[in-house]
Amino acid sequence: MGSNSLEFLSRLENSVLRHHEFYKNSLPMIASENITSGLVRRFYTTDFGHRYAEGKVGKRFYQGCEFIDEVEELAINLTKKLFYADHVNVQPISGVVANIAGFFALTKPSDLIMALSIPCGGHISHDKYSAAGIRGLKVKHYPFNNEEMEIDVDETARIARRERPKLFVLGSSLILFSQPVKELSEVASEISAKVMYDASHVLGLIAGKQFQNPLKEGADVVTGSTHKTFFGPQRAIILSKKEIADEIDRAVFPGVVSNHHLNTLTAYTASVIEMIEFGEEYAKQVVRNAKKLAETLYDLGFNVVGENRGFTETHQVAVDVSELGGGAKVAKKLEKINVVLNMNLLPWDSIENTSNPSGIRMGVQEITRLGMKEGEMEEIAEIFHACLIKGLEDVALRERVRELKSEFSKIKYTFEEEEAYTWGR
Ligand SMILES: *Cc1c(COP(=O)(O)O)cnc(C)c1O
Repeated sequence: MGSNSLEFLSRLENSVLRHHEFYKNSLPMIASENITSGLVRRFYTTDFGHRYAEGKVGKRFYQGCEFIDEVEELAINLTKKLFYADHVNVQPISGVVANIAGFFALTKPSDLIMALSIPCGGHISHDKYSAAGIRGLKVKHYPFNNEEMEIDVDETARIARRERPKLFVLGSSLILFSQPVKELSEVASEISAKVMYDASHVLGLIAGKQFQNPLKEGADVVTGSTHKTFFGPQRAIILSKKEIADEIDRAVFPGVVSNHHLNTLTAYTASVIEMIEFGEEYAKQVVRNAKKLAETLYDLGFNVVGENRGFTETHQVAVDVSELGGGAKVAKKLEKINVVLNMNLLPWDSIENTSNPSGIRMGVQEITRLGMKEGEMEEIAEIFHACLIKGLEDVALRERVRELKSEFSKIKYTFEEEEAYTWGR
């Protein structure tokens, strides 16, 4: 091997090892991430990842798909059962891809849709910058009540009866509380519109029966990433009513996927089995932890969002840190003590304010998967307080984070506990 290649390989390995070491010693609190169990990781490295399986189970375009069909059928059946869904498509390779398929199935170019603005929590793919824009949709934002962190349903109904949108998009990236699926589904049926709920963040909480199941409340379609509060690899699913099954399936293939990353399909299927077994217990602890973290931060003087409604009913906590220097500064300061989270726009921010928005957003789903409970949430809130309000020294606080984390290195809520951040040899 040439000496350059050796050097490149060693640089590659070094970066990967240091990444793992960093996560081992950190509090991973990005609300859209999670870790997978050893079981799911084993099913991530199957030969399936080298194959194509275009089309549907039993109706493929290439040979060699007998066992892939068995797996995809199992994935579909287990997913249907878990979510009480009439129809399931497990082929989208990511949440955005699932949303693009949803838009292609449910709308035509230049149709009007309603969605949450990005500061109010909407995902970029719900707006003109991304998936909705690619479909050529016009987007009107829901009127929003900042105090209640809630869509103004009456005003939305008035606007909808006047402007007759074709689709209501619900679900969001900043999501602290359940949303008015039932109410907007009623408005939708009045004006022949559809409802698509993007459950990317809360999919695991729905599977664990600790959050609203949009299908039961009248949504036509539910999209969602499988790697945030769900136990899966980075991938997505679409659940829908029977009537629109064909439109959804066509929009996925041949619409927006060709191969569908089949090693992540085997991994996803294993994660559904884990969810069936451990999802409820996990989701309960996630919500308990988020509430405890929010309450303790509030008691320590932080401006926690959603006070009127008890701060959170999900895995997320949002804090307005505009008086502490803003979201960008605070997120970077926390990174120095090995706490990983992100700055976030809040409903009272302008969409232009992406460089230093008012908020930070955090999620407890990964640290809960590692076994942390309410006591650890109190310690984390105190670390935030020591860092951001008392201004204690980084070195000591980083050590405090490392010590706390060192007792939580194994993945729980699975059949066999395994180390979370080891890699390779
Ligand atoms: C994360 C997220 C997505 C995107 O999912 P990917 O799997 O990253 O493509 C879509 N919608 C919402 C609401 C999200 O939070």
